[in-house]
Amino acid sequence: MTERTTRGIDLAGPHDPLDDPEVRAARDRGIARLDALGAHRRTVRGRRFDSIAVHGMYGMAAALENGGSIIEPAVLAPAQHFADSAEMEAAAAILAPGWIYSRIANPTLLYLEQTLALLEGYGFDGETSAHVTGSGMAAIALATQPFLGVDAPGAEPGPMNVVVTARCYGGTFQLFTHEYAEDRGIEVRWVRDPLDLDEWASRIDGRTRFVFGEMPSNPQLSVFDIEGVARLAHAAGVPLIVDSTIATPALLRPLRHGADVVVHSLSKAVGGSGLTIGGAIVSRRGIVSRVGSDELRDDFATWVKLIPHRNQGPALNALSALFLLSDLRTLRPRVDHWSRTSLAVARFLADHPAVEAVSYPGLPGDEGHAVASRYLWLADGDAEGLPVNRYGHLMGFRVRGGPRAARRVFDGLEMVWRATDLGKVKSVAAIPMISTHQQQGDAGRDLAAVPGDLIRLSVGGEHVDDLVADLERALARA
Ligand code: PLP
Repeated sequence: MTERTTRGIDLAGPHDPLDDPEVRAARDRGIARLDALGAHRRTVRGRRFDSIAVHGMYGMAAALENGGSIIEPAVLAPAQHFADSAEMEAAAAILAPGWIYSRIANPTLLYLEQTLALLEGYGFDGETSAHVTGSGMAAIALATQPFLGVDAPGAEPGPMNVVVTARCYGGTFQLFTHEYAEDRGIEVRWVRDPLDLDEWASRIDGRTRFVFGEMPSNPQLSVFDIEGVARLAHAAGVPLIVDSTIATPALLRPLRHGADVVVHSLSKAVGGSGLTIGGAIVSRRGIVSRVGSDELRDDFATWVKLIPHRNQGPALNALSALFLLSDLRTLRPRVDHWSRTSLAVARFLADHPAVEAVSYPGLPGDEGHAVASRYLWLADGDAEGLPVNRYGHLMGFRVRGGPRAARRVFDGLEMVWRATDLGKVKSVAAIPMISTHQQQGDAGRDLAAVPGDLIRLSVGGEHVDDLVADLERALARA
C-alpha cells in the first residue's frame, strides 16, 4: 500500500472517479487504513534507532494479515488483485492506498522505504519519505533529472547549471559529464575543494538548478559543511542533494542538517552482506526548488515514485528488498564495528613506511577531520549511550613508489578481495584509477583528486589482526 495518497495531481477528466459513490466508499476505506498506519508510524517514530531498523513499520497487525510471519513477506507477484472495480479504480486514481503493479509499488519495497524514511528522519522533527530503485545510479538520476525541466515563468534568462562536488563516485561523475553536460548542454560547475564554502558560493547563481555533494566521498573520503552548503543552496532557491551512501544513516542524517534530498546506493554498507544492488531517494516534506510542480516540492520521494519512476521503470525487485531489509536490521552495530576496525587499520597504514598518505576522516591529521567530527556521530552513541564519533568503513591510501608500486601491493593481498565494491562484510580493495574512476580519464581524475597510486580499502567484519597482517604482507612488495 502506498502510505498516503498524492493530492493535487489533476486526475479529473471526462470521467471523474469520484462521481461514483462506490469509488468514494473505497477511498474512505483507504483513508481509514492510512489513519491506522499513521498512528502506528507515530509509535514507531518514538523508538530508538536499532528498534526502528529491526522492525520498521512491520508490526503485529501486519503480521496477522500475513499468516503471523514475524518477517516481512516477499511479494513476488507483479500485480495486486482487487476486491472489486471500485477498489481498483480508487487505487489507480491514487485516491486509496494500493500497490497496483510492482513497477509502481510493491508491499515488500514499501516496508523497506518506510524503514529508510524513518532511519533518515531519526532525530529530525519533520516528516520524511523514501523511494527505492534498482540501483544507486538510478536513484541519483531520478533525484536530479526532475530539476532540469523547463524554467518557471519569470526565470532569469541563460543556460542552466548544476553545482556538484568533483570528488564523487566515478559513475556520478560520468552521469553529470555525459548525460547532463555533453548530451543536454547543462553547465556542470564542479567544486574542486568541498571544504571551501567560498568555492561553493562562487559556483551557485540564479541559473543553478540543484547543488549536489557526496559525504564522505568515494574514494577521496572528502567531507563538506552540509549546513553551510544548504544555506547557500536555499538562498538561491535550489535544493541540496546529498549522496550519503558511505556514511549511512547510522552515522549521518543530512536532512537534519538542512539537506532536501538524500540518495543512497543500497548496494554498499546498507546491503552489507552483498546479495543485491539497490538505491534509495529520501526527502523531507517541502523541499526548496524554483522549478517543478507543487507536488514535487511537497513530497519529492513520493512524487518521484508516482511520476518519473513509474514512467521510466528502474524498479527494485521484492527479493532484493527483503535482503536489504534483513541487512538494515544490523546496520548500526555493523557500522560501529567496521568503523572501529577501520580507525585501527588507518592508523597502521599512516605509520607504515611504504605508505605515502592515508585519507580517513577519523585521523586527526586528515584535512576533513574537524568537519567530519561535527557531522559523523554514531546514532544513539556508544554502549553507555554517550555521544561518539565514528568515521565509517572506507579509506584510501597512496603507496610510495607510484602506480606500479600500488599495483604490486594490491596484487599481494591474500584475504582482502580485489573488486569494484565497498561496504561489504568482506573487506574489499580497488585501485580507482583502473576501475571505478577509469572512464573519466586523466583530466577528470585530476579534477576529482584521484591519483594513480591510490588504493581504496573498504573494511568489513574480519578481525583487525588479520587485516593488518594481510596489508603488512602486501605492503612488503611496494
Ligand atoms: N554513490 C556512491 C557513493 C557509490 O559509491 C556508488 C557505487 O559505488 C553509487 C552511488 C552507485 O551505486 P550503484 O552501484 O548501486 O548504482
